[in-house]
Amino acid sequence: MPSKSWKCRKCGYHMDAETCPDNDGAVPCNGDISLCLNCGALYKMRFKRWKPMSGKEFDKLPDGVKKTIVQYEAARQNIVSR
Ligand SMILES: [Zn+2]
Repeated sequence: MPSKSWKCRKCGYHMDAETCPDNDGAVPCNGDISLCLNCGALYKMRFKRWKPMSGKEFDKLPDGVKKTIVQYEAARQNIVSR
């Protein structure tokens, strides 16, 4: 179930919900990762708020997580470019 809306700090895009692509009932928690649907900026949930993720933080992620993010980013770019 989608939860609260949030706004990208980089481009100002307003996301109307937080959703998990493979679990509609999931509620975001600390350590979860998201990206802006408009610009692709990466975010990490800290203290129940989306905070921009640094390049160093991205580099420290497990390879499988990085691969998933790259796939989501490619899908995002495909949608945005239409
Ligand atoms: Zn953005």
